[in-house]
Amino acid sequence: MSDNPFDLAGKTALVTGSSRGLGFVMARGLARAGARIILNGVDTGRLQAAQAGLKQEGIEAQTLNFDVTNEADVIAAFAVLDQRGMAPDILVNNAGIQLRKPLLDFTSDEWRKVIDTNLTSAFVIGREAARRMVARGHGKIINIGSLASELARPTVAPYTAAKGGIKMLTRSMAVEWASKGLQVNGIGPGYMLTDMNQALMDNAEFNTWLMSRVPAKRWGKPEELAGAAVFLASSASDYINGQMIYIDGGMLAAM
Ligand code: NDP
Repeated sequence: MSDNPFDLAGKTALVTGSSRGLGFVMARGLARAGARIILNGVDTGRLQAAQAGLKQEGIEAQTLNFDVTNEADVIAAFAVLDQRGMAPDILVNNAGIQLRKPLLDFTSDEWRKVIDTNLTSAFVIGREAARRMVARGHGKIINIGSLASELARPTVAPYTAAKGGIKMLTRSMAVEWASKGLQVNGIGPGYMLTDMNQALMDNAEFNTWLMSRVPAKRWGKPEELAGAAVFLASSASDYINGQMIYIDGGMLAAM
């Protein structure tokens, strides 16, 4: 066994929403640290492209196509993992969507879609993973929050409610499962360059506001999440429970 506390050799990691964006980069980081990874998404083409991209780097990723908001599909996916002997040691609850409009204009269906995708999925998938982790006496769960776990901005109310919920779900999971050998923590990314933020990247006014607000004076690069994901997935974090690590260029620290 390696004495490198960040070594993930022999571990299996499921990263939801890892066909692109932050999930893909975190999955690749976990793989580079030695984990076997399972990529997830709903778009089969994107999932296969992600798998092929990793193969070019010498990483053999498995894929599991399921919608994180469909509980029956989630349960079926875990049954497939059981059959493959790949019950996750590491789960990253990353899949998420954004929908921007004034709160007065949101329909209840739109509200529920954002909450189901960004929050309820983390409970359902977390529960399925933790049932198996508790039985084995160890496991790591990383829930992806956001600056919106702490701060509100106009036009993203359901997302903000969901990400605030992610912070408290992380604490709830941590306090219930710490004594069973699980560590549950979260990562809160700041403004990162991914598809989700295309509309903001294309908006000059938003860019001016962001540069005035972020101490680091730049957008975050997706790769900048990989190190924290490896840390929270590894034995280096075995006594860390219920924490959020914000990777935001200092935005939360600034007035
Ligand atoms: P992207 O839009 O780039 O990617 C989203 C990923 O989630 C895709 O792989 C997508 O799969 C998957 N996904 C979406 N809905 C579902 C679903 N119902 N079931 C399964 N997979 C799904 O997003 P980001 O990489 O930017 O964001 C990832 C996470 O990070 C989210 O939780 C987001 O809220 C959070 N975050 C992002 C920030 C940022 O600046 N980008 C800042 C703070 C938090 P497919 O390709 O099949 O659509």
